[in-house]
Parts: sequence; structure tokens; C-alpha cells
Amino acid sequence: MKRVIVDYDKDEQDDWVAELDCCHGQHVRHKPPFVNRPWVEEQSGRDAMLGQELNCVKCDRLEWPQGLVAYKQTPDFTETTTPKGLLKDHSTKAGVWGRIKVKQGQLDYRLITGQTFELDSSTQGVVVPTMIHHVSPRGSTLFCVEFYRKEK
Ligand SMILES: [Zn+2]
Repeated sequence: MKRVIVDYDKDEQDDWVAELDCCHGQHVRHKPPFVNRPWVEEQSGRDAMLGQELNCVKCDRLEWPQGLVAYKQTPDFTETTTPKGLLKDHSTKAGVWGRIKVKQGQLDYRLITGQTFELDSSTQGVVVPTMIHHVSPRGSTLFCVEFYRKEK
């Protein structure tokens, strides 16, 4: 999915990596004639690309980014106390990741992409920032959601 460039870093090979607002990094190399990104070589070029979008396949793959820290956790919900907002399509905001932890029973986790996961105590759900989703308890269940963001 499309993500916004918020900063840059260099990897061990001295190649430029764009930091995206999803907390993933993406190489933005300039290796002519194979990859042409002359803008990445100059500070002014990099600055001009801040706020531009790149397609992040790591988000599409629900890949957990490095360097996230937990900062909030919901109470435990049962099939009768699950907030209505979680049963309807919703999403976390930019930069906020989540883990759905099922402690008892089962929970269906559906993404707008069509992907469906059956969560239980051995399978956690990965909530990707701004990716629309909802959950449906399957009978008796107990679960909570942990929220993560980049360490400041
Ligand atoms: Zn991403």
C-alpha cells in the first residue's frame, strides 16, 4: 500500500533508505543505468521527495517492522464486551501497529484486502497502520489488542 516518505537513513552499504510513515524502510538507490534516482544523491532532492508516496510491499505482506515499542493495551474483551467499533470496519492511524492476542477461544480477523485469519491463542493478528479491518468472535472468546509505534 502507498506510504509517505518521512525521513532517510543509510544502510551498512552506504545506500539510501527512505523511512516511510508505516515504520518500514525502503531502499531508494541511484544505480544507473539500472535504477535512476538522481534526486537521492542531493540533500535538496531528498528533501523535495519528503511527503511523496512509495508503494510498501512490506505492509502488504503484514511484515512487522523493526524497532517498534508497545505503548498501549486494551482491556480483555469477551464476545459480549467487544466494542462495536472493532466489529465494524476500522483502522489504526498512520504509524500505529497492533497485535490482536486471543487468550481463549477464536476470533476471525478480516482485512479489506480480502485476507481472513482465524486467530487463537497460538496465532496473533497483525494490525497494519490505516489498513481497514474488523474482527468477529466465534462463540466464547477472550482477547485484547496491543498497540505499538516507533520508539521516539
Ligand atoms: Zn510499510
